[in-house]
Amino acid sequence: MDKFTQNYVDRFMDELIARNPGEKEFHQAVREVVESVAPYVTSYPHLMDLKILERMVEPERVIMFRVPWTDDKGEIHINRGYRVQMNSALGPYKGGIRFHASVNLSILKFLAFEQTFKNSLTTLPMGGGKGGSDFSPRGKSDAEVMRFCQSFMTELQRHIGADTDVPAGDIGVGGREIGFLFGQYKRLRDEFTGTLTGKGLGWGGSLLRTEATGYGVCYFAQEMLATRGESFEGKTVVVSGSGNVAQYAAKKAMALGAKVVTLSDSDGFIYDPEGLDEEKHKYVLELKNIRRGRIKEYVNKYPQAQYFPGERPWRIPCDIALPCATQNEIEKADAENLVKGGCWCVVEGANMPSTPEAIAIFQSHKMLYSPGKASNAGGVATSGLEMTQNSIRQKWTSEEVDQHLHRIMSDIHAACIKYGTEEDGYINYVKGANLAGFIKVANAMVDQGLV
Ligand code: NDP
Repeated sequence: MDKFTQNYVDRFMDELIARNPGEKEFHQAVREVVESVAPYVTSYPHLMDLKILERMVEPERVIMFRVPWTDDKGEIHINRGYRVQMNSALGPYKGGIRFHASVNLSILKFLAFEQTFKNSLTTLPMGGGKGGSDFSPRGKSDAEVMRFCQSFMTELQRHIGADTDVPAGDIGVGGREIGFLFGQYKRLRDEFTGTLTGKGLGWGGSLLRTEATGYGVCYFAQEMLATRGESFEGKTVVVSGSGNVAQYAAKKAMALGAKVVTLSDSDGFIYDPEGLDEEKHKYVLELKNIRRGRIKEYVNKYPQAQYFPGERPWRIPCDIALPCATQNEIEKADAENLVKGGCWCVVEGANMPSTPEAIAIFQSHKMLYSPGKASNAGGVATSGLEMTQNSIRQKWTSEEVDQHLHRIMSDIHAACIKYGTEEDGYINYVKGANLAGFIKVANAMVDQGLV
């Protein structure tokens, strides 16, 4: 990076940090994008004059609200609800809702910012948004989760709509929560529209939406592997998380011939040296989605596996790592462990799971490495396909949805190659995804005037 561009980045980040103090995840996500796109922005002075990047980091609207609810014992709880409507240059705001105790404005702004570029990469007409609450469904009864969702939606419904803002699931928000949220939306607004995605298959949901993020991660990984004449066949794969994304990334990796040896949750990870198979995978789905149990129970059922409490799976030797749990779950030492264990390909299912120091290690070893905004875009892409089916009042078959998903993931890969290939031939997927996503949003903002 030349001196002028470096100064531009430094000044930009200083101002951003001063205006958004303490929002460290947001700073991290913005820095990554700004470092990728600054050489482009500084070579097109009109983008600087129009302050396109400065506008992109300022959400169009942030809604924050009180969510009161009563638990099964009659005690009252107060949580905080949010919706960050980041950028609508390409379409209605679109992005998930996260329910987790760690949720705060910084995390939702980082997610909404990343979402804007991810949605742009899908080529579907979707702007960027994200929302959630510091409420955690873990350990709550179905009735408590329902009362919370109803209270949350009672406020949120004023701000969303099929042509305005279309939320979906994320951490802590799966099929059960989307059902409760949709029910309350319908009741208050008296309309049955596609305002939420990830709906049940019998009432407006798209086939394959549940599987889409995880499957999309593996389709993207297949394209990456193919650039080195490789495939999943016979590879050892380490997966983190055991929620929606992890479950279906593991399933597709297995179907493509890989041996998946780990899964995790926030308490620890399991290592099954024999690898998961169809029966074990079914057990995990039942454990996590129906019984809502902990991953450590896996070793009671399959005693050849080991459970490591309080640890992440990155020291287990592997070829391919699929981080599918949460942000910043691969730190510098974890990245070093992955390299030591022979890993040469990291494909992110979660959003921003690798810290900047970890990414630097992957890239300095010329590993195949893809950021979540490219490789996990299959989830929101299929949400976009759900919106299309709702609008035209039709339902596509799984084969049709799968074909679209496959095509979208390979188009995103092609965009990363176009914008991210460096002089020595190394594909810098971070640069490729950021630049390809940015250019489309920036052009739309230029066209739409100062709004
Ligand atoms: P789920 O709630 O279904 O699963 C999350 C998993 O990650 C659980 O195993 C959870 O463990 C674990 N986890 C959550 N927080 C932490 C933490 N702080 N430390 C360690 N483990 C943690 O969520 P999803 O599978 O939907 O989401 C996973 C990631 O993928 C997130 O980064 C999300 O933003 C991203 N993503 C999701 C998409 C989707 O379609 N669902 C689309 C694109 C990205 P525990 O049960 O202990 O909390």
